[in-house]
Amino acid sequence: MSHVYLNGQWLPIEKAHVSVLDRGFIFGDGVYEVIPVYNRRVFALEAHLKRLDRSLAGIRLSPPLDAEQWQPIIARLVQETETDDSSIYIQITRGVAPRDHAFPANTQATVFAMAKPMTAVPEEWLSQGIKVVTHEDNRWLHCDLKTTALLANVLLRQYAVDHKAVECILIRDGFVTEGAASNIIVVHEEQLLFPPRNHLILPGITYDLVIELAKKHGIPFKEAPVTRSQLEEASELLMTSSTREIVPITEMDGKKVGAGVPGPLFRELLSLYQGLK
Ligand code: PMP
Repeated sequence: MSHVYLNGQWLPIEKAHVSVLDRGFIFGDGVYEVIPVYNRRVFALEAHLKRLDRSLAGIRLSPPLDAEQWQPIIARLVQETETDDSSIYIQITRGVAPRDHAFPANTQATVFAMAKPMTAVPEEWLSQGIKVVTHEDNRWLHCDLKTTALLANVLLRQYAVDHKAVECILIRDGFVTEGAASNIIVVHEEQLLFPPRNHLILPGITYDLVIELAKKHGIPFKEAPVTRSQLEEASELLMTSSTREIVPITEMDGKKVGAGVPGPLFRELLSLYQGLK
């Protein structure tokens, strides 16, 4: 039976409770990470913990645990999960305090971590590709921070589901930012285009790994603003995230992307990515 970690304790999930005054509940005042585990080996841990610290710094919360302290917690979660492939979810909030927007003076952060079995990417997503829709990016201007305040992302993902699509590609001022819960890579004129890493997108760990693979294997790429017309002219579109890896997008807003089937760059990158595990 696997346990979850909450503020130094190991508990069955039904016994893990936080106060209704927790600022995560009241304000969404917290950050999180999702780390994939393959064959009971944690994937890209250092990069994920580094991003966690970056998100904490972004919301002005000092890290309650360092990498060395996370190590045994994550190791236990990995060992206790039923499956060899899983994902670790970490959430840190500003803790419990009387409700007031401004930071409380002396509050302990709430630290929570759990593991859950990895759900496999559906076979037809890889063989046929997925459908997406586009939507104006109506989120805030700190999308580089992985915060638990995800209401806009929730509504955008639901917009996709309502339109029988898997993901929603977000467009801000005419430029592609990312997906509601993923990064987007656009293949345009034989080149991979990565929307630039700035405050408008989450610096995806998978996005970074794909850039490294492109560099190493001589696949032409550019980190540059991507216009809506480049998106519409794309020969291939890729969605990336730690739990979905790389998924081909073959239909956008009811129209075929390129030939309407998963393309050669998708196949090459997915196979290189699998090699990293
Ligand atoms: N952008 C957003 C908004 C996300 O929620 C995610 C993760 N689900 C990503 C990008 C992809 O990041 P990563 O590759 O680190 O999972």
